Amino acid sequence: MVLPYKAEAATDFTQESNKQAFKQALEQVKEDFGVERPLVIGGKQVMTDDKTTVINPADKEQILGRVSKAKPEHIEQAFEAAEEAFESWSAWTAKERADLLLKVSAIIRRRKHEFSALMVYEAGKPWNEADGDTNEAIDFIEYYARSMVELADGKPTLDREGETNSYFYQPMGVGVTISPWNFPFAIMAGTTLAPVVAGNTVLLKPSGDTPLIAYKLMEVLEEAGLPAGVVNFVPGSSRDIGDYMVDHHKTHFITFTGSKGVGLRITERAAVVQEGQHFLKRTITEMGGKDTIIVDKDADLDVAAESIVTSAFGFSGQKCSACSRAVVHEDVHDEVLARSIELAKKLTVGNTVDNTDMGPVVSQKQFNNIKEYIETGKKEGKLEFGGETDDSTGFFVHPTIFSDLDPEAVIMQEEIFGPVVGFTKVKDFDEGLKVANNTEYGLTGAVITNTRENWHLAVRKFDVGNLYLNRGCTAAVVGYHPFGGFKLSGTDQKTGSPDYLLNFLNQKVASEMF
Ligand code: NAP
Repeated sequence: MVLPYKAEAATDFTQESNKQAFKQALEQVKEDFGVERPLVIGGKQVMTDDKTTVINPADKEQILGRVSKAKPEHIEQAFEAAEEAFESWSAWTAKERADLLLKVSAIIRRRKHEFSALMVYEAGKPWNEADGDTNEAIDFIEYYARSMVELADGKPTLDREGETNSYFYQPMGVGVTISPWNFPFAIMAGTTLAPVVAGNTVLLKPSGDTPLIAYKLMEVLEEAGLPAGVVNFVPGSSRDIGDYMVDHHKTHFITFTGSKGVGLRITERAAVVQEGQHFLKRTITEMGGKDTIIVDKDADLDVAAESIVTSAFGFSGQKCSACSRAVVHEDVHDEVLARSIELAKKLTVGNTVDNTDMGPVVSQKQFNNIKEYIETGKKEGKLEFGGETDDSTGFFVHPTIFSDLDPEAVIMQEEIFGPVVGFTKVKDFDEGLKVANNTEYGLTGAVITNTRENWHLAVRKFDVGNLYLNRGCTAAVVGYHPFGGFKLSGTDQKTGSPDYLLNFLNQKVASEMF
C-alpha cells in the first residue's frame, strides 16, 4: 500500500541519541575518503585517468575522494546507453516505475545520516542543513512517484456520439540533468528522478564541487534495481562536456539548476536545432535569486530580525532563496537592524563536523567572489557587522550586515551567494514593494507585516515565484511550497508541484470513430 505523501520530518539534534547516531555517521563515511570513483555508463563503471579531486571546504587538506571526469567520447557512449535503455524503461508502467522509486527513497531513509554526513564534509553543510537536504531528496522522490501514478491514465477529455477520445502522457526520450552544489543531493536527485519516473532516461552531470553525493545516489539506484542505462553518471568539467551535452542532437530535454549566466547560455544553445534532431528541446532552467524581506512599520520586530538572520545566514547564504536584501520601514529600521546584529552575533562559524551554525563557503572561487562583494559593500554602504574572511584552512566568511545602501547598489542588485545581507530604508510599504521588485530576479520574497491589506498588495504585486508572510524566505517544502522563480530567476516550472512531471512528458490524444 502506498501511504499519502507527507514531508520527511527534520532530525531533532537536541536529542542525545540523534546526536550520537549522527556522530557515528560522520565517522563511518570517513572510511571511503580518498576512494576513486568511476563514471557509470549503461551500468558499467568506467574509470578515467583525469579525475576531480574533491576536498572538504572547511579543511582544504582533507581529500574526500577522486572522481573520474567524462570526456565527449563518454558522453557519446552514455547517449547510446540511455537511448537503448529508453526502449524498455519507457515500457514499464507508471506504477512499476513509481514502486522502484519508492524503494530508492526507502533505502535512503534507512541510511539517512550517512548521506547527510557526507554533505557535511563535501559541501560544508551544518548538520541541520545536511539533514534538510537529505529529507528533501526523499520528499522529491516520494512526491514524484505518487505524481506519476496519478498521471498514469491521463486526464479526462470529452467523447461524443460515435467518437471516443483519450488524452494521455508519454515519455519523451533521453535528457540531460545538470545540477548545482548547493543542494547537492535534493536538487540533483529530484531533477534526475522526475524525468526518470516519467519514463525517460538521463545523463546526469552533477556539480564539479559535489560529485561524491551524486555517486552515492548511483549506488542506491543500482541497489534498488534500476535497469542499466536509465541514469548514466557523467561528471566532468563543464568546459569539456557542458556545451556538448546541451547541443547534442539526442538531447530531448535539459533540466538545469544553477547560475543565471550558465542558464541563459543553455537556453540559447538548446534553441538551435542540430543536424539529425527531429524535435524541439525543452529546457527547464532554474537560476539565481536576489531575495528580499520587506519589513512593515507595524511588524513584529523579533519575527522580522529572526526571519532576516535565518534566511540570510542559513548555509552561509548559499541558497537561491537566501535573503540578501532587507527593505525596512524607516520607523522600525534601526531597531530591526540592531536586533538582527544581536542574533548574528550568536552564530558560531567553523568546521561543521563540530555542528557549528555556519560552515565554510563551498570553494575558493565562491570565497573570492564573496570577499570582493564585501569590499564593494564597504564602499557602497556602512559595514554594521562581520566582514571577516579567512581561507587559511578552509573558506570561511563570517555573517556580514551592511546598511545605508542605495537599492541600486551593486550588492543590492547582484547575487552574492554568501552570508551577506544589505539593509535599506523605505518611507512606506508601497516604496518597499517597488524596491523589492527592482532587480532582474524574482525567486523568493517575504513580507513581515500585521496589516492585512499590505499582505494582499504584496500577493498581487511582489513579483516573485515564492512569497511568504511573517516568516523567512527560505525553506520551501516539496508538495507544500512548489518552488521556482519569475523573471531571470528561471522558467518557473515549479519543482515539487503537481505539474512538474509534465515537463518530461509528451501529451497525446487518440481519437477513434466507430
Ligand atoms: P553554476 O556554476 O551555474 O553550475 C551549475 C551546474 O552547471 C554545474 O553542474 C556546472 O558544472 C554546470 N555548468 C557550468 N557551466 C556549464 C555549461 N557551459 N554548460 C553546461 N553546464 C554547465 O551554478 P552553481 O554555482 O553550481 O550553483 C549556484 C547557483 O545556482 C546560484 O546562482 C543559485 O541561485 C542557483 N540555484 C538556483 C536554484 C533554483 O531553484 N532557482 C536552486 C539552487 C541553486 P561544473 O560544476 O562542472 O562547472
